[in-house]
Amino acid sequence: MASEGFLNKISGFATLAIHAGQDPEKWNSAAVVPPIVTSTTFKQPAPAEHTGFEYGRSGNPTRNTLEECLAALDKGKHALTFASGLGATTTIASLLSSGDHIVSCDDVYGGTNRLFRRVLERLGLQTTFTDFTNLESVKNAIKDNTKMIWIETPTNPLLKVIDIAAVSAVAKEKGDIIVVVDNTFLTPYLQRPLDFGADIVVYSLTKYMNGHSDVIMGAAVLNDDALEERLRFLQNAMGVVPSPTDCYFVNRSLKTLALRMEQHQKSSYVIAKWLENHPKVTQVLHPGLPSHPQYAIAQKQMTGHSGVFSFKHVGGLQESRKFLSSMKLFILAESLGGYESLAELPSVMTHASVPEEQRNELGITHSLIRLSVGLEDTEDLIKDLDQAFKAAF
Ligand SMILES: *Cc1c(COP(=O)(O)O)cnc(C)c1O
Repeated sequence: MASEGFLNKISGFATLAIHAGQDPEKWNSAAVVPPIVTSTTFKQPAPAEHTGFEYGRSGNPTRNTLEECLAALDKGKHALTFASGLGATTTIASLLSSGDHIVSCDDVYGGTNRLFRRVLERLGLQTTFTDFTNLESVKNAIKDNTKMIWIETPTNPLLKVIDIAAVSAVAKEKGDIIVVVDNTFLTPYLQRPLDFGADIVVYSLTKYMNGHSDVIMGAAVLNDDALEERLRFLQNAMGVVPSPTDCYFVNRSLKTLALRMEQHQKSSYVIAKWLENHPKVTQVLHPGLPSHPQYAIAQKQMTGHSGVFSFKHVGGLQESRKFLSSMKLFILAESLGGYESLAELPSVMTHASVPEEQRNELGITHSLIRLSVGLEDTEDLIKDLDQAFKAAF
């Protein structure tokens, strides 16, 4: 079984996804499906008085409905949504001030790496990237002015699993460090970072949470009231808000999140095992496989793994190119987490913005292919991989 040895499934998850924040009584019409409220302004009973909404940037009923559901799924107290995952990251980083220092895992999402190095650096926020699978290197990277620790687990595209509880404990030793976990690859169905000491969980809702590859959006989920107040201020002050229509789409997609994640999990596990036995494959990086270097950590903080993973083959750039262009079902494209299966070459696509030297150090080579296993029939996906191998090697 795909989830054998992992944490037990979260009970009541599907019920929360369908009912949390969705009470029909909150709408005058008693609509069972939350309406898309497009109004940018709301009538006030008297000057400077309002009934919960004033202006669409500072609050919107459709957005609030989604945020309430998102908070429940992570067993968090608060959730905030943003125009994109990177919009959420930018806003969270804006909790910091010039002169503060961030410690980030070395193998983060390419766009996060670019934001830290090429935007925040210029604004006076320094980031140290280091290997978070080694706790000593996390400890050594922390300085007097370190104010944030950025974890992404499993990492992208190398699927390293970081011990959230252990890194959070290191951060808490110093006291005033905010621990952020990017949980995009797993969703709260497979991992709830707040349970392991994280302060903020960040999502690109664009991926599994929406799951239909038709919305760009991000979110932050947290428990701390004071931190929520500061983020709520920034969400409005910086204006990085999503549209009500997009909020409607994501809210709807969450209703099938549990079912989708079950299927992604099962299918990716079968395909990972198939690849592990393939003669042209040298390594499969999938946290559900006992061969994974951090298998034990994965089992103590995850309830299973999603559809995204990577593998290395015996060839080089030419074989990768041929393999990817030979695929018929897997679509050659960036992104992940949708119902459709995708494949890509991180070294020249999603992670091209990571400096070559850093890429080589990490092992993001031209023979590393990343898959996002979608919801098609598993046997058809294996057939597609099989014929692509035959075409490329
Ligand atoms: C896609 C992604 C992001 C960025 O999200 P956008 O919605 O594209 O801005 C951040 N982290 C991870 C892990 C991602 O996959």
